[in-house]
Amino acid sequence: MTFAIHGLPVARGIAVGRAVLVGSSRVEVAHYFIKPEQIPAEIDRVRVGRNAVVDELQRLQHAMPKDAPPELTALLDVHLMLLEDETLTTGVKHWITDRLYNAEWALITQLEIIARQFDEMEDEYLRERKADLEQVVERILRYMKGVGSPIAVPPHNTAVERRKSGAHQMSPDESLTVPLVLIAHDLSPADMLHFKQSVFAGFVTDVGGKTSHTAIVARSMDIPAVVGARSASQLVRQDDWVIIDGDAGVVVIDPSPIILAEYGFKQRQGELERERLTRLRHTPAITLDGHKVELLANIEMPEDAAGAVTAGAVGVGLFRSEFLFMGRKGSLPDEEEQYQAYRRAVEGMQGMPVTIRTVDIGADKPLDKGHKEDTHLNPALGLRAIRWSLADPAMFLTQLRAILRAAVHGQVNLLVPMLAHGSEIRQTLALLDFARAELDNRGVVYGPLRLGAMIEIPAAALTLPLFLKYFDFLSVGTNDLIQYTLAIDRADESVAHLYDPLHPAVLRLLADTIRACQAQGKGVSVCGEMAGDVAMTRLLLGLGLRSFSMHPAQILAVKQEVLRADTARLGPWAQRVLEAEDPVQAMAEPLTARPDGEPCRVDSGLGPLATH
Ligand code: PEP
Ligand code: MG
Repeated sequence: MTFAIHGLPVARGIAVGRAVLVGSSRVEVAHYFIKPEQIPAEIDRVRVGRNAVVDELQRLQHAMPKDAPPELTALLDVHLMLLEDETLTTGVKHWITDRLYNAEWALITQLEIIARQFDEMEDEYLRERKADLEQVVERILRYMKGVGSPIAVPPHNTAVERRKSGAHQMSPDESLTVPLVLIAHDLSPADMLHFKQSVFAGFVTDVGGKTSHTAIVARSMDIPAVVGARSASQLVRQDDWVIIDGDAGVVVIDPSPIILAEYGFKQRQGELERERLTRLRHTPAITLDGHKVELLANIEMPEDAAGAVTAGAVGVGLFRSEFLFMGRKGSLPDEEEQYQAYRRAVEGMQGMPVTIRTVDIGADKPLDKGHKEDTHLNPALGLRAIRWSLADPAMFLTQLRAILRAAVHGQVNLLVPMLAHGSEIRQTLALLDFARAELDNRGVVYGPLRLGAMIEIPAAALTLPLFLKYFDFLSVGTNDLIQYTLAIDRADESVAHLYDPLHPAVLRLLADTIRACQAQGKGVSVCGEMAGDVAMTRLLLGLGLRSFSMHPAQILAVKQEVLRADTARLGPWAQRVLEAEDPVQAMAEPLTARPDGEPCRVDSGLGPLATH
């Protein structure tokens, strides 16, 4: 039966595929496709892992002292019984043989299926056996990890490419070529990163806000995604057919042929639009009235630089360096590793500027799952970003030295997140001087840096002269500025309806920051999600913004808006929006004529397009 679940749209486009349910504790398991000739070896890996666990448990059983608590013996019996269960082994074989899943993936897929059956049991005792099953599977996985996979993970094989392209193939006979979509209760930003090169054509999570970091990484992968879909992971079953509408935030389960045909049409329309936009790649981003606009990329890893160049970015406006620090079980990257990573990003941008933001760990970006920030009562208000860096000067100095060294290879801007206090600014700058002195002492070369501060806390937006005194440029992090101005946790879907980029207070802080920078001839950009939202482009241009940093995937759509814009008309309109009680309504009102009475010419480089 067809039904739909509504969530928050985070990454545009339509994906159609079979559901792969992944529990959040198991997402680190590798997901890749094997070749048909590798099926026996892969089945054997599971068998060897399973047998090893059986041996281990039997040894424990025999070594059990006579006076051992009966619960313990019963527990071992249950674990052994679960290991003998045909449902587990037959299911695993099915996923490996019929779907060409690698062994670990097959194992956790079957685990999810059986776990659900346990969830549905009336008997509480039996329901609780799910935890035992999970433990047994974890044990097998551990053994398999020790044994290792004989198959290298193919970063991109043709099957993967076919699936990622969302090629919509519905015939069950062609099950090996159908796209797969991932459904999970929650995924951390590090988990998402793990899936960046993966086989999935789309994502759905139960939790998360539109600008949560999980959503941001999903958007950077440029595949359709919906977050905050509440009970999706409960309602969708393994292998169900699912449509993800990343534009509307809708997930359709078990779609009827007529719905499939409709979404298939929408999918093709989307692809055509994207193709059309690629023609703008080399077109300079200049408004109708001749204002040059800088369209920069937000990246998470050095390797993303290539995609930024392809998308036509003229630099990186935000390199979220914390992604180098996450999911490493507490071991942080040393100076050399960081230097190499920053250098790769700089070289990858082929002479264009790269803005490296110092580490922004904390809140919804813990170093590792279960790390103490996770359980902090108010992580967004806690030891996060620059506060975290200043609390660990040795770690911060390591990062600063690495960035200084990378600046030898191209134009590097240093961006500091979440500053609010003058003392934080002064400490940061003192540590930067110290890092330079350390490099001097070691005789290591380093390059010049332009210094920037992120405006993410209302306190910063209200004390701009202080920031302008010390920094060469400011970058508005609207994701956090909205969160902190409106007291809305950006990762909490239950208050997502109150997360409002057009709230008059947010617009006022944004407009003041742009104006203050311009008045002093300092650079200003927006690097929050607002910058990549085409619905906001005209407003930001009207407020005077000329530098936007966003996911590479958004650049061409925003460029199209820029090419159609006439700032002489947008300026007065944006002022009216700024002063309106209801900015949404004010934005819907038509633009007035140009002050000079000239008609507005439209020349987008793409042929006839609508005028505003
Ligand atoms: C922001 O807050 O707008 C921003 C760009 O930083 P992040 O999303 O990484 O917090
Ligand atoms: Mg931020």
